[in-house]
Amino acid sequence: MGDSIVCVGELGGRDTRRAIDATGMVAAPGFIDVHTHSDDTVLANPKMESKVRQGITTEVCGNCGDSAAPVQGQAEIGARKRLQHYGVELSWRSLEEWFQRLGEQGVSANVVTLIGHGTLRASVMGHAMRPPTQEEMLAMMSLLAESMEAGAFGLSTGLIYPPSSYAELDELVELSKVAASYGGLYASHLRNEGDRLIEAVAEAVAIGERAGIPVELSHHKAAGKANWGKVQQSLELIEKARYGGLDVSLDQYPYTASSTGLSVVLPDWVHEGGDEAMVERLKEPVLRARIASEVRSVRPGWENPANASGWHNIILATCRSDPGLEGKSISEISQSLGRDPVEAAFDLLIANEGNLAVIIFSMCEDDVQTVMRYPPTMVGSDASAKAPYGPTSQGKPHPRAYGTFPRVLGRYVRELGVLGWEEAVAKMTSKPAAKLGLSKRGVIAEGNHADIVVFDPKTVSDQGTFTEPHRYPVGIAHVVVNGTVTQDDGEHTGALSGRILKRGR
Ligand SMILES: [Zn+2]
Repeated sequence: MGDSIVCVGELGGRDTRRAIDATGMVAAPGFIDVHTHSDDTVLANPKMESKVRQGITTEVCGNCGDSAAPVQGQAEIGARKRLQHYGVELSWRSLEEWFQRLGEQGVSANVVTLIGHGTLRASVMGHAMRPPTQEEMLAMMSLLAESMEAGAFGLSTGLIYPPSSYAELDELVELSKVAASYGGLYASHLRNEGDRLIEAVAEAVAIGERAGIPVELSHHKAAGKANWGKVQQSLELIEKARYGGLDVSLDQYPYTASSTGLSVVLPDWVHEGGDEAMVERLKEPVLRARIASEVRSVRPGWENPANASGWHNIILATCRSDPGLEGKSISEISQSLGRDPVEAAFDLLIANEGNLAVIIFSMCEDDVQTVMRYPPTMVGSDASAKAPYGPTSQGKPHPRAYGTFPRVLGRYVRELGVLGWEEAVAKMTSKPAAKLGLSKRGVIAEGNHADIVVFDPKTVSDQGTFTEPHRYPVGIAHVVVNGTVTQDDGEHTGALSGRILKRGR
């Protein structure tokens, strides 16, 4: 009653407050976005339009090593600065305090969170490029344990992003053991998605096996033309690990371009000390020259998209210093300035205090379909909740923010037949619910929470493009979150009936 599914099938004359005519449509469990970055934007935009409009009823935050909490020290300073862009004031340190803030404000979809390893490390040891001391290790473990007790679902790493990338295997295994002891999972943005993809998958598998923890490989792909086709090998390795008894699955967004920060083109050591220190290094002529020569060279083991995909495939998504450059490639920008692309990229990083989002055309369509067909693959947008107006409407973000789920259904099920309808819906609902251990969600059944999406299989499709990303999809008619109609005939009702979901509760 109220927030639950009372009856499936013939209602037997039961009284209903509201009837939705879904003739010719599909009623499915509400979609679970298993990989998101809405940590900042759920507070800036509680209606989460870009997500609800796709039929998403549960949002999994805290991925790629970054979470909203716990924040102390450098992590707190960084979070405060990021939140300023959205006009949100930081009023929490622990996960419990963040949950409280979210609860007071309300949110349109259910929220699940992982704890970011980069956030733990920045909280305890700032952006230091070295292994933790024993004391620091214990401090990270205790922050993680406290967060797991508050209801987090596991640990995430972002092993191309400092300070998460500064960690070696043992540190990750020890922290994963803490998450495992609470029944959590380990989600990883791998250390390398390019030349060393296979070694990076092997590292995640080793962490899973040594810590005894289920593993989720984030946004699986082979980046850079030279690596196209490698997903065949990576999936074989995953299959072998699964056969050996490890619970390992993966997620994916249905596009051949990725999105990240432009600062990933810089070597690890340049990030030491954080963004301010990084910008200072780029301003200092001797260091700048050294960094430029490293960026131009190919170093095995370092995934540098400037080399793997080329500057012409790196497009600015947000550029606060000059929004007119959004949508342009680094090559185009450098040509119009008559500058070398490396120098142009450095100048942009300085002008934006290191903070620029880019889109990188790095994958091939065959790989996208191969990964999608693999049964353990789930659907995850890798995006934050946005809206075409207000504080989250900035820039030209990756269209996956608005289109991931409808695109899988429209393009990959209806048009290309890569997946069947039931198979695709399972990748968006029951599979992520089972992986996370979300009880009573992900399946339409009596007694389950009433998270439901009604979509039109004839028309469902994404509308956002790389030049016009802030566009809602079509064909998603109704969305119900915990029994409350949140989208009615294609329009958001303003309902804030999402809940904070806590592991084991
Ligand atoms: Zn990532």
